[in-house]
Amino acid sequence: MAEVILAAGSVNSPQLLELSGIGRPEVLGPLGIPVRHPLEGVGEGLRDPIAPRIKWRITQRGITFNDRARGVGLAWQVAPYLATRRGFLGLPSAPLLAFFRSREGLESPDGQLHLVPYTYAYGGGRRELTAEPGMTVAIYQLRPESLGSIHVASSDPRDPPAIRLNFLSDEIDRRTLIDAVRFTRRLVGARAMAGFRGEELRPGPAVESEDAILAWIRETAETAYHPVGTAGWGPTPARWSTPSFAFTGWPASGSRTDRSCRPSSRATPMPPAS
Ligand SMILES: Cc1cc2nc3c(=O)[nH]c(=O)nc-3n(C[C@H](O)[C@H](O)[C@H](O)COP(=O)(O)OP(=O)(O)OC[C@H]3O[C@@H](n4cnc5c(N)ncnc54)[C@H](O)[C@@H]3O)c2cc1C
Repeated sequence: MAEVILAAGSVNSPQLLELSGIGRPEVLGPLGIPVRHPLEGVGEGLRDPIAPRIKWRITQRGITFNDRARGVGLAWQVAPYLATRRGFLGLPSAPLLAFFRSREGLESPDGQLHLVPYTYAYGGGRRELTAEPGMTVAIYQLRPESLGSIHVASSDPRDPPAIRLNFLSDEIDRRTLIDAVRFTRRLVGARAMAGFRGEELRPGPAVESEDAILAWIRETAETAYHPVGTAGWGPTPARWSTPSFAFTGWPASGSRTDRSCRPSSRATPMPPAS
């Protein structure tokens, strides 16, 4: 018996399933897609971390890539890269990582920090190093609870699906990111950083209250590009992430899929707000 392997990613896997008539009847019916197999989980359960990024000025000159890789400086990065695969051109997405608990009582870390030794801004749709030397700390919530969806918008496979990210709709996510911003500020404010740390450039120290931090996150944070959970194949919500459902009428003895089916773990319940 043949095996079906669907691995088109968290965006396209639910789209392919729905175009094939596998999914929510209330989504497929209005688009004129005949329902071959009703499955509630398809397209639902999208989780994608939203990542606020805090930027600080660095007071010591010559150590950030704003100083060393901007403009003609980029040319000086080519030789080290060719010789050692190091320098700006060999930089991974985050050369310095940290995992942390945003509050007491969590069994495991619920946040991750990515630190890069430069600051950037968007120019003409591209990220560009800024003139002022700085560093950027991106904050990721490891297990976001806000659920969005990805569903077909038409029966035409050339049309992109409709993505509803629904960021920050869950209180745990809002609480975690506010606490994480404060934790990150304390970390960077440590005495060991005194010789490097300048003022906070973004969002800036004036953004201090919970409401202001949340508003800044809503306005500026970006996806962290780790969407999961959109192709739940199990028959019930509790088993949406179990890719073992044999589709009636499909020549499949089993099925496998990609990150769209990755199980998502729940964060430790949040203690009451103090
Ligand atoms: C900018 C960026 C940075 C990232 N950094 C990291 C990182 O540092 N660490 C980490 O763990 N993860 C990172 N990720 C996330 C990681 O890339 C994804 O989680 C992972 O690639 C998901 O794998 P996948 O197989 O589910 O889907 P994908 O890798 O997206 O693979 C799906 C494939 O299916 C193909 N496809 C789609 N539709 C069709 C179709 N109709 N017909 C034929 N082929 C089709 C696509 O072309 C693609 O090749 C990053 C993602 C991005 C965008």
